[in-house]
Amino acid sequence: MATDAPLSTVPLLDAGLPAGVHGGFTTRAGGTGRAPFAGLNLGDHVGDDPARVAAHREALRRSVRADVLVVPRQVHGADVVEVVSPPATAPEADALFTRVPGIAVAVVVADCVPVLLADAGGGLVGVAHAGRPGLVAGVVPALVAAMRSAGARHLLAALGPSVCGGCYEVPQAMADDVAAQVPAARARTRWGTAAVDVAAGVRSQLDALGVPARDLGRCTVEHDDLFSFRRDGSTGRSAGVVVLA
Ligand SMILES: [Zn+2]
Repeated sequence: MATDAPLSTVPLLDAGLPAGVHGGFTTRAGGTGRAPFAGLNLGDHVGDDPARVAAHREALRRSVRADVLVVPRQVHGADVVEVVSPPATAPEADALFTRVPGIAVAVVVADCVPVLLADAGGGLVGVAHAGRPGLVAGVVPALVAAMRSAGARHLLAALGPSVCGGCYEVPQAMADDVAAQVPAARARTRWGTAAVDVAAGVRSQLDALGVPARDLGRCTVEHDDLFSFRRDGSTGRSAGVVVLA
């Protein structure tokens, strides 16, 4: 089997983005990686072959018909960077937005929530990586605020696959700390212990800001076609990506 054949494009889960916006969420499908990165690993910080990751990212760029793909160095913070031209080095941030057609912005995840934002007016797109720290830090509200300051009037959000509340067990004290900041994130595992539902927390943040959100609601831990750090430890990363056509 031709696992090293050049990649053309990769399949994306549909994010229901408005007209004039391309994007979505990757799965493991469409890549050439081998265990423990089997499939379409897009993370360049997990120990995979850099050339293979670069080829996967290039295929992702082609898939959304972008001129350039910008993936930040993610640090679980709440900083937002506007991308105005192709950067020489990856920006250090967990949220990016742009008003430039052809510049695709993406985040990589393996259980954290990838969030896409698009202005239905067509002038701005953004992306955020929201794990438990980013939820508490407010990375998604920070992105909404930045995009509105830049002129967005009718934002829509899409949440990609992530670990669900029923699978994301944490110590009780940690669950309490998160819920003190974001009550909607309080959850129980399917086996009855303390948990965090990051996606529910992000949805509540978007709802409070009046941003309609679509959640694919697919749990990374429960589906083998998605990378999951909680399930597998050393593994690859999927992406959420968005670009103005
Ligand atoms: Zn789950």
